[in-house]
Amino acid sequence: MKVIGILGGMSAASTQIYYRELCARTRQRLGGLHSPELLIRSLDFAGIEKLQAAGEWQQAGAILNREAKALERGGAAFIILATNTMHKLATEMMRGVSIPLLHIADATAASIQKQNLRRPGLMATAFTMEQDFYTGRLAAAGLAPLIPEAADRAETHRIIYEELCRDIVTPESEAAYIAIAERLVARGADCLILGCTEVGMLLNQRNLRVPVFDTTLIHCDAALELALGVAP
Ligand code: GLU
Repeated sequence: MKVIGILGGMSAASTQIYYRELCARTRQRLGGLHSPELLIRSLDFAGIEKLQAAGEWQQAGAILNREAKALERGGAAFIILATNTMHKLATEMMRGVSIPLLHIADATAASIQKQNLRRPGLMATAFTMEQDFYTGRLAAAGLAPLIPEAADRAETHRIIYEELCRDIVTPESEAAYIAIAERLVARGADCLILGCTEVGMLLNQRNLRVPVFDTTLIHCDAALELALGVAP
């Protein structure tokens, strides 16, 4: 099994989900005492969030690049960046790194295409919903993503940073997220991308009526397939 390098801590709440799910999925597949070979670098999200809010992307890119290099030196066979938002900096992060990055948007797009869906609603941070680095990548894969209206985008973003990244889960926010998702469906979304690695703390296939694509779980599955050398 190849060593999966996880660049996480963005936030720590979702990196724990990656660890738990990668362990559970490896056990399901291989049985017995099997567990995944991982190298996890978990950053302090407080500093990263400050750089995001201040628009200091160059500095954030330099940090990710330094950490990706450390994962390579440590023996990772490939890298997963355990946040959708920071894929904005995928190119900067991988500069001078010779192991591959398993891109979260590519894995998600492939999974949607497999089900012949085309118009995913996208719930994520404002950066991911409003900038081109993510929706553009989905569009390049033949999808037509739909993002929430402005007030819903602001609320989605707020709940991620003020609650989910701090491990706070409330029924009020779950209800708010379901309502936002339903408005996307009413506007024509044929499925929903949980496009932030914490959104699955509130939404899942049990509380939504369209197919749900949880980027964290999709990323874990894709990483495991690559680590085990199985074709998707
Ligand atoms: N984990 C989140 C994501 O998937 C948001 C935190 C961050 O900005 O990295 O986008």
